[in-house]
Amino acid sequence: MPELSDGDDDDDVDDEEQWQWMEEDSQPVTCLFCDRLLSSVNATLQHCTAEHQVNIVDLIRNYNLDDYGYIKMINFIRSTIHDYIHFLCSEDFLQPVLQDDPLLQTGTESSLYILSTG
Ligand SMILES: [Zn+2]
Repeated sequence: MPELSDGDDDDDVDDEEQWQWMEEDSQPVTCLFCDRLLSSVNATLQHCTAEHQVNIVDLIRNYNLDDYGYIKMINFIRSTIHDYIHFLCSEDFLQPVLQDDPLLQTGTESSLYILSTG
């Protein structure tokens, strides 16, 4: 029965392909906004929504992102967040650019209050 044995071989190949796909999908994913390692893409998306208030799925829908747009967005967020964290950790910008800058004198609490009251 050559036909049956061919069928079995095909099934084996399918199983292996599916297993490899599952394995790839369960690779740890680094969060877009912090150093957390998440167990899957799905867990990362949920983490971004819960911890960083950024819903990637909503972004894709709101901006009608295709695959290219999605790839660009992910890479853009990763590179800018990396630069941003580096910027926050450095002391390069502690010297005022403008002398007696009123924005610096209000501090974060007043700025947040002004923003929240509009
Ligand atoms: Zn995170």
